[in-house]
Amino acid sequence: MPDTDPKKPRLLLVYPATHKLGWVKRFQLPSLSLKQVAAATPEEWEVVLADEVHEDVPFDGAFDLVGITAMTHQAHRAYEIADRFRSRGVAVVLGGIHPSVLPEEALQHADAVVVGEAEPVWPLLLDDFLAGRLKRLYRAPVPEGDLLRIPWGRRDVFAGKQYLTTRTLQASRGCPYDCPFCITTNFFGKSFRYRDPEEVLAELRSFGKGLTVFLDDNILGDPLRARPILKGMAGMGLKWGGQANLRFAEDPELVQLLAASGCIGIFVGIESVAGSHANHPKTGSRFSQADLIKRIRDTGVVVEASVIFGFDDHDESVFERTVRFLEESRVSLPTFHILTPYPGTALFDQFDREGRLLHKDWSRYDHGQVVYRPRLMTPERLLRGWQEARWESYRLPAIARRVMLGPGKPVHLLYNLLRRGGIDRPRDGC
Ligand code: SF4
Repeated sequence: MPDTDPKKPRLLLVYPATHKLGWVKRFQLPSLSLKQVAAATPEEWEVVLADEVHEDVPFDGAFDLVGITAMTHQAHRAYEIADRFRSRGVAVVLGGIHPSVLPEEALQHADAVVVGEAEPVWPLLLDDFLAGRLKRLYRAPVPEGDLLRIPWGRRDVFAGKQYLTTRTLQASRGCPYDCPFCITTNFFGKSFRYRDPEEVLAELRSFGKGLTVFLDDNILGDPLRARPILKGMAGMGLKWGGQANLRFAEDPELVQLLAASGCIGIFVGIESVAGSHANHPKTGSRFSQADLIKRIRDTGVVVEASVIFGFDDHDESVFERTVRFLEESRVSLPTFHILTPYPGTALFDQFDREGRLLHKDWSRYDHGQVVYRPRLMTPERLLRGWQEARWESYRLPAIARRVMLGPGKPVHLLYNLLRRGGIDRPRDGC
């Protein structure tokens, strides 16, 4: 913790953890939202960051204000932390996706709630706090236009903590698609905004050498706007990873440019290999998903493909079909999720309307538990199928087959072994 300057007001930013992680915490990424909040905080404040994944929250510290971010699965823990500080008379502000979606709920545990992106309203909130006129709600304006203006994140607040890397940034916010199970478009508004390419490249240069991770929801969602960024990165000697939808691979030139820019791994959401979600517009094209995956794999870039189990047209056969598809299409790193109706999404509204939510215990809305009644199987069968698919895909022979079939074997093997470490043997229950 830095030396305290008695003249400066002290702000504690907290990233809540729902469970303790072992050694794998060294492969986690730091919170982007708190990095941005720290960057938007005027210099007159001293900022201290507590990431509960790495350390205990300093409940007894001398802080003037506490800011806590929360996604849905973190909300319960965020409220516990907030309540504890408030019981000592320390003011608390809650922000992030969950408080933005359910501000009334969050306000039961906070002095103020930030709705939407924090950067535009954070300096005003701090001024109001120091002047003793803190309001209950700070609602960020709905983003407009296609230019994203944000401060460079503050990496110094992560000093002393061990992450995979702190060289993280965003080139864009939003997504051109609007998947019913995803909060991105609702949270960031309908606009899909990119930063000025030169500014992104300048921030990248400031990072120096080392692994860089783009935390965009869909960095290649607009190939025309992503292209100058990738072109500028080629030749910088970067090694980077990010997330996109598979559609970018329809353009072979863009795939080559991705590899030339230093990309070593890309996370793609293919959602479903069967049924109506396999033909979602974002991946529907004259090319098959397998063809597009192969194109990327052939360049040596690791492809982490994410699938979701539990759509309304998924029956019990989906598990076996998905595992076979992922094997045959040579995905480098399969990732399996259970469909989760997060508050704020169209899916949540639908399941709530249909009376299919099993409960609203947000701490269990973590895409590893079943929180709704699936249409074509029981909740228990969905959980079991998800567990079996993960277990089967990360058996050593399955890993060996994936790794031997493509280029980039050492990185590929390392990723797979790391992932295998977090996978439990199938068990009963829901
Ligand atoms: S493509 Fe991905 S980021 Fe975009 S709305 Fe769908 S799930 Fe969300």
